[in-house]
Amino acid sequence: MAQKLVVIGAGMASGRMLEHLFEEAPGAYEVTLFNAEPRGNYNRIMLSPVLSGEKTFEDIVTHDEAWYAAQGVHTRFGEKVVAIDRAAKIVVGEKGEVAYDKLVLATGSTPFIIPMPGHQLKGVVAYRDLEDTNAMIAAADKGGRAVVIGGGLLGLEAAAGLKLRGMEVTVVHIMGHLMERQLDASAGYLLKKALEDRGIEVLCEANSEEILGEDGHVRALKLKDGRELPCDSLVMAVGIRPGVTLGKEAGLDCGRGIIVDDAMVTSDASIFALGECIEHNGQIFGLVAPLYDQAKVLAKTLQGEAAAYVAREVSTKLKVTGCDLFSAGDFAEAPGREDIVFRDPGRGVYKRLVLEGDRLVGAVMYGDTADGNWFFGLIKDGTDVSAMRDTLIFGPSFQGGASSDPLAAVAALPPEAEICGCNGVCKGKIVEAIQNGATTLDAIKASTKASASCGSCTGLVEQVMAVTMGDAFVLPSATPMCKCTELTHEDVRLLIKSKALKSMPAVMQELGWKTPDGCASCRPALNYYLLADWPLEYKDDRQARFVNERNHANIQKDGTYSVVPRMWGGVTTPAELRAIADAAEKYDVPMVKMTGGQRIDLLGVKKEDLPAIWADLNAAGMVSGHAYTKGLRTVKTCVGTEFCRFGTQDSTGLGIRLEKMLWGSWTPHKLKLAVTGCPRNCAEATCKDIGVVCVESGYQIVVGGAAGMEVKETELLCTVATEDEVMEIIAAFTQLYRENARYLHRIYKWLAKVGLEWCKAQVVEDLANRRALAERFEISQSVYRTDPWAEHAKPSERAKWAPIADLTLVEAAQ
Ligand SMILES: Cc1cc2nc3c(=O)[nH]c(=O)nc-3n(C[C@H](O)[C@H](O)[C@H](O)COP(=O)(O)OP(=O)(O)OC[C@H]3O[C@@H](n4cnc5c(N)ncnc54)[C@H](O)[C@@H]3O)c2cc1C
Ligand code: SF4
Repeated sequence: MAQKLVVIGAGMASGRMLEHLFEEAPGAYEVTLFNAEPRGNYNRIMLSPVLSGEKTFEDIVTHDEAWYAAQGVHTRFGEKVVAIDRAAKIVVGEKGEVAYDKLVLATGSTPFIIPMPGHQLKGVVAYRDLEDTNAMIAAADKGGRAVVIGGGLLGLEAAAGLKLRGMEVTVVHIMGHLMERQLDASAGYLLKKALEDRGIEVLCEANSEEILGEDGHVRALKLKDGRELPCDSLVMAVGIRPGVTLGKEAGLDCGRGIIVDDAMVTSDASIFALGECIEHNGQIFGLVAPLYDQAKVLAKTLQGEAAAYVAREVSTKLKVTGCDLFSAGDFAEAPGREDIVFRDPGRGVYKRLVLEGDRLVGAVMYGDTADGNWFFGLIKDGTDVSAMRDTLIFGPSFQGGASSDPLAAVAALPPEAEICGCNGVCKGKIVEAIQNGATTLDAIKASTKASASCGSCTGLVEQVMAVTMGDAFVLPSATPMCKCTELTHEDVRLLIKSKALKSMPAVMQELGWKTPDGCASCRPALNYYLLADWPLEYKDDRQARFVNERNHANIQKDGTYSVVPRMWGGVTTPAELRAIADAAEKYDVPMVKMTGGQRIDLLGVKKEDLPAIWADLNAAGMVSGHAYTKGLRTVKTCVGTEFCRFGTQDSTGLGIRLEKMLWGSWTPHKLKLAVTGCPRNCAEATCKDIGVVCVESGYQIVVGGAAGMEVKETELLCTVATEDEVMEIIAAFTQLYRENARYLHRIYKWLAKVGLEWCKAQVVEDLANRRALAERFEISQSVYRTDPWAEHAKPSERAKWAPIADLTLVEAAQ
């Protein structure tokens, strides 16, 4: 007599298992199939095409009524199983009990709903089944706006579907790039761009705080930064949890999922489980490929045959028409791994292969995924790829090698792209001059003025010549920025502006970087360039900074840190001195020292004490002196007219004004200023990056001094009559330096390249340009004139500074 098999859940995993079972052992079991959904098995992964209108539900049904009838399955659809009585071997359904000899749990998973205020409002939906899909279609029929929380596979499919149905859609994603579990930042950038091209707004690094409602219905999503995104419908697609409740209540061993062995047997020998509800060897599942393997194994187990499930690599594709992406294996960075990267900015193609020794372990590709399955095969089989390493990235059909074209980024620029910023010369004009016979750089300079001013676009002009003239022009060799690119710093700076590149992945993709994420040399430089060019749009990447800037303190040779509060213009008060003294005592600061820049340095502070000492100094009204930054350090002053017999102007007051204007700004290298009240120069203004020497008739602004490895006297930029002019010219000059110098060049080095005369023309003679530069400086400062200590001293941030392990406690215990 046939045994009684009860299956709970008519989803994709149990559906496949039953197919195998009926085929391999017809009549072995009398099956009762429960499903909480009021229907049988359908291809859940095709709900997205149903949502977008590309398919109907009927198209995706995998097992219809006739199939169940033919197999003799007793279907209990629309009935949830509420309990399992293992002792009596009975499952309790909402409409009655059924006895079993063997029981299969295939309850899938439940979507995770962030329990934030407002999650129960009408109009908030998850994305899991046909009901959710129909709810979204009904909402879209009314039009309006939708917000999707979650930039993973499901969230993006929901967003694309709703957009196709005519809604205005915004995706809110907490991570730095979309689908971060499947894609690296570069592929994530291309995906974001593709979605934006089809009108979907994408907000990364956006943290949701509350869902706002009106009359019980969702009205908007409020983000942690205070932004409100109005919406008529809100889809939450932030992850799934294995459906363990039933198994857990029945006393089966559960971890994150219902625990099964290799044969899909739970802790009860009569009960089996498979699909998204299980945990196998600590792993849980979210894609169908492994579930189908489990289905095969369980069908064998139910026939009494030995079979073992072995987890295997999975690959992912996104089912959004026109977004070609593929990801498989592991592409996280790890010691001993190497990358092969191919980028074709013109076609929006990105491919990255990750090798570990002679094996391929991961592949990510966007834009051209034709070879995805071939790479996936190499990963699964662990094929030795050493013999084809040079040509591997070009796929199986590649015949012979071809290196990537370093001039591709320049060739892809449109004619209206600006090449020479100083003189407003675009690529088309240079090409036209070449076609009219200008075949040398001098001839281009003479006929178009391109590269005839500061000269930082010279490399790019030459590249336009090389692209246009081919072999007739020999490109002079220029030093590339680093091993990741053939482009120079200057090229990169200009291309960031002309191609409006606003993120690190955008730069790397569009300019054809040869590595996936850059290196220790280009990342800090790119971070600076992006921050200088797009202060309001680009978000500083702290990880791309050098250690002192990351930690907001100078690391000393014994691993401790120095703490230097800002002293505006070198002036302090008894209250500040008291607070500094108290902090020095409280945190056992071994040395308190005056710096060369008129400030007090607390040396030898332990890393874990940093947030607390910063908080104490903040409480006394002091902020970071940025003694570690590629940015403004100090404005040194002398006493000037207030106390000195020789002073001609209020040098202290001007120093304070300047420091309050410039503090917090990021510059290509450190920036030191001084204001001295008369030519006796007690503040040593003539060896600073920017100095002011007060004289009877006004103020001499001097620039380009150095007193470090090289010693250099400043040169006179101009003499002006009023303090306000000093402020404006220094703001404009600083901005000129910020916008043009290459990263890690002090002002004197940059001046040697662009020339003092060019700077004078920009900030002294051309008044409109001066104003525009000063205005741009102010705009960037609206973001950056903030105290970094305050942020890191917050209780929520303090854990980052705690020691990794307290070894003293371990010692004490031994
Ligand atoms: C919109 C969408 C798109 C997807 N796209 C992809 C993709 O492109 N590629 C991919 O590999 N995967 C994709 N997936 C994931 C894939 O669908 C799942 O991995 C797969 O469906 C899980 O199968 P399962 O049988 O474990 O669970 P399910 O298919 O979820 O089936 C579980 C069933 O059990 C029922 N149930 C639960 N508890 C009870 C109870 N107590 N009593 C009775 N019945 C119960 C549920 O109602 C449900 O019908 C997608 C998922 C969704 C939602
Ligand atoms: S620089 Fe001139 S004004 Fe300033 S302290 Fe020295 S002597 Fe006095």
